[in-house]
Amino acid sequence: MAKRRSTTASTTITAEKDLPTRFEDLGLSNRALAAVSDMGYEAPTPVQAASIPAALAGTDVMAAAQTGTGKTAAFLLPTLDRLGHARHGQGPLMLVVTPTRELAAQIEEVANAICAHTGHTATVLVGGVSYEPQRAALRKGCDLVVATPGRLIDLINSGDCNLSQVETLVLDEADRMLDMGFLPAVKKIVARTPSERQTLLFSATLDDDAIASTRSLVRDPAHVKIARKGTPAQTIEQFALGVSPDAKNAV
Ligand code: AMP
Repeated sequence: MAKRRSTTASTTITAEKDLPTRFEDLGLSNRALAAVSDMGYEAPTPVQAASIPAALAGTDVMAAAQTGTGKTAAFLLPTLDRLGHARHGQGPLMLVVTPTRELAAQIEEVANAICAHTGHTATVLVGGVSYEPQRAALRKGCDLVVATPGRLIDLINSGDCNLSQVETLVLDEADRMLDMGFLPAVKKIVARTPSERQTLLFSATLDDDAIASTRSLVRDPAHVKIARKGTPAQTIEQFALGVSPDAKNAV
């Protein structure tokens, strides 16, 4: 079982110049490094270099990171690297909550690349698809669940999803979840997890106004503030495609 380290003061990591520049220097195991190599990443992004050592130490993390900064691997690599394995019919031991189906699919893709090396099983619980395969996956047992708030609440209420074994909780795009009105759902979900869990909270901004209501969900977190508000990540080329809502997932 993953153990959390108790910290007495929070750490703020803001300077990029002092961050490690090699994945090998972040404390990841050889199996996690093999996953990094499979994904074709040559050097850690700043949010990865700052978040991975803190998360590996068991510390809670609050990170300001936009989509495109490498935040998905920043939270999945260290957490899956130290996660135990659920017994048959049990779990999840780790839960990632994210606001949209599209983000859940992106997280699943990175999770599958890492799980191929760590041997963990991942299940995605999102709306818009039938319940039964998700119920069956939960009955079988899984190590990691990636979920959107609405469907997860449904499966909790029906007794299909039990979060009492969660050791690691990730709140992805926390500010967006609040914007979308998911705060009551997120609070209900967090209340179903053990209080001694490790919590990683990723948000485009850590501005107090935006995420003040989530501060009670993390304990003595390391603060990672690298992305500048309103600035798209430089590695991302942006373009827009006009599509109908029905065609969105396929596109
Ligand atoms: P994310 O911020 O997690 O949505 O990631 C954005 C994109 O960056 C994805 O296409 C990743 O595959 C890519 N990426 C993540 N980490 C790295 C890295 N260290 N080097 C190169 N590309 C990366």
